Amino acid sequence: MPQPTAICVYCGSNTGRHPEFAEQARAFGAEMARRDITLIYGGGKVGLMGVVADAVLAGGGKAIGVIPRQLVELEAAHPHLSELVVVETMHQRKTRMYQLSHAFVALPGGFGTMDEMFEMLTWAQLGLHRCPCAFLDVCGYYRDLRAMMGHMVDEAFVRTEQRDSVWFGDDITALFEWMQDYEGDYSSKWIDPSSVSA
Ligand code: AMP
Repeated sequence: MPQPTAICVYCGSNTGRHPEFAEQARAFGAEMARRDITLIYGGGKVGLMGVVADAVLAGGGKAIGVIPRQLVELEAAHPHLSELVVVETMHQRKTRMYQLSHAFVALPGGFGTMDEMFEMLTWAQLGLHRCPCAFLDVCGYYRDLRAMMGHMVDEAFVRTEQRDSVWFGDDITALFEWMQDYEGDYSSKWIDPSSVSA
């Protein structure tokens, strides 16, 4: 699979306890700009989200935010993005971020990050897309989540190949190389999720 040209990054609206969280978010954003990969994200200026976006823009890259109108009005939107896509609801935001992206990467974050990333993992499991999904495991933040996924496999709630398709690691270069080598298919993705009945 060719290098993705747009990556959706899910990450915290806080910067977390350790300075390494922001340092690695900055390094990840800088690497995206260096590789000329567009950032698709939640459009906020706060937390790791703001750090990644600032790093992409500082490196001369393109950052597109997708944000519900209500959050813009609360002035949480980043003021200097290449583009800010304003939608009406949280669900429209997640769908739009999905549509614009070729790969999905979670940096450390909280409930919002988990919600967004697990939706992409679930859609992959349902065959709605075949795009790479990865967790950048800064300071071992995702160690227990990875163990939990192993437990899900052990207890026969998740298929081994589904778990194995998800990348975990702390090496940013290795992550970009993995995405480039991923045997997926961006073009398989353009299925409207709302067309799938329950
Ligand atoms: P959390 O991990 O709970 O901090 O939530 C962060 C994730 O939820 C990000 O990936 C965003 O897409 C979304 N999000 C949460 N808060 C905001 C905010 N104030 N502005 C923009 N997006 C947000």
